[in-house]
Amino acid sequence: MKNILDFSLNELENYFINELKEPKFRAKQVFEWIYKKGVNDFSAMTNLNNALKNNLQNTFYIDSVEPVKCQQSNDGSKKYLFKLKDGKCIESVLLPMKDEIIDENGKLMRHKRYTICVSSQVGCKMGCAFCYTAKGGFVRNLSAGEIVGQILKIKRENAIAYERRVNIVYMGMGEPLDNLENLTKAIEILKHNDALAISPRRQTISTSGLASQIKKLGELDLGVLLAISLHAVNDELRQSLMPINKAYNIAAIMQAVREFPIDMRKRVMFEYLLLGGVNDRICDAKALLGLLNGIKAKVNLILFNPHEGSEFRRPSLKNAQDFRDFLQAKGLTCTIRQSKGLDISAACGQLKAQNEKS
Ligand code: SAH
Ligand code: SF4
Repeated sequence: MKNILDFSLNELENYFINELKEPKFRAKQVFEWIYKKGVNDFSAMTNLNNALKNNLQNTFYIDSVEPVKCQQSNDGSKKYLFKLKDGKCIESVLLPMKDEIIDENGKLMRHKRYTICVSSQVGCKMGCAFCYTAKGGFVRNLSAGEIVGQILKIKRENAIAYERRVNIVYMGMGEPLDNLENLTKAIEILKHNDALAISPRRQTISTSGLASQIKKLGELDLGVLLAISLHAVNDELRQSLMPINKAYNIAAIMQAVREFPIDMRKRVMFEYLLLGGVNDRICDAKALLGLLNGIKAKVNLILFNPHEGSEFRRPSLKNAQDFRDFLQAKGLTCTIRQSKGLDISAACGQLKAQNEKS
């Protein structure tokens, strides 16, 4: 059985013509059922004949991820533990946001907008000292269809209409740029107008800083947004937190960022994980400011999410606010990530661990 979500429209059309001996337009019909109407059962595709429905049912599956657990936070975010076909588990998060829009009568409207955070691998090779996912090591890459499947499933589970604006952040389990081929295929499928039509400008790839892969991604010129998990401003500290810094130091990352093609109106996001007493002093903020000088950057401060056995501590909110205020006063855009879902064991990998224990 094949995951139909692994197929781009073009590939599905070729499959229909060459393997199923069906006309090309049938592939597009199926695509629309799956992505636009959110149907996950071939037998419900009423404009297909029975023979084709049976054939499809025996060849493909649509659901590549099954929810095992879902934890809802009091801020409205929902964290899913998904089981893949081979029994491995990953996590994805739905983050509802409110968009404020002024309508034509000048009235303030509040529209629901969503961000979906997806995983790109089962586990991760990068071994970051603060990360729970790192503890389990690397298991395997997700296929393009398994990445797309997380979004489709969350949209369906929450009855999110096709037209609703959805942003994607590749900030779940795994290092997306260590799975570049499948990642770019997923981005292409997601953006297709006959699929979910999610513009690459609404897709943000977060990376621990694989400079050579950032370069490759840039050369593809997909129009996606980039987020760099920086977390430290000198190589010594960064190396102790993120072993990948040995292969690509801060200078190499900054060089790759400078060369990365990005929409004039957009900025590269620098994620900075605040670890109490490690990298959260004002002198660190000062050094960060110097490092980002001349780059169209925005900083997103993350408060460390403690997990069992972790050696780090979460800084106080006041500490994070002082850090932010310092950067903002110097003209650098800086926000503190709202810890949506902190109360539902947010740091990725923890829901999975909880489930395995029980
Ligand atoms: N591998 C990619 C994307 C997944 S991790 C990356 O590292 O960027 C997404 C973000 O969560 C990263 O910025 C990562 O540093 C951060 N993160 C990891 N463990 C965390 C923890 N315990 N608390 C808060 N953020 C964490
Ligand atoms: Fe991998 Fe990102 Fe966790 Fe580092 S922080 S181990 S790169 S998932």
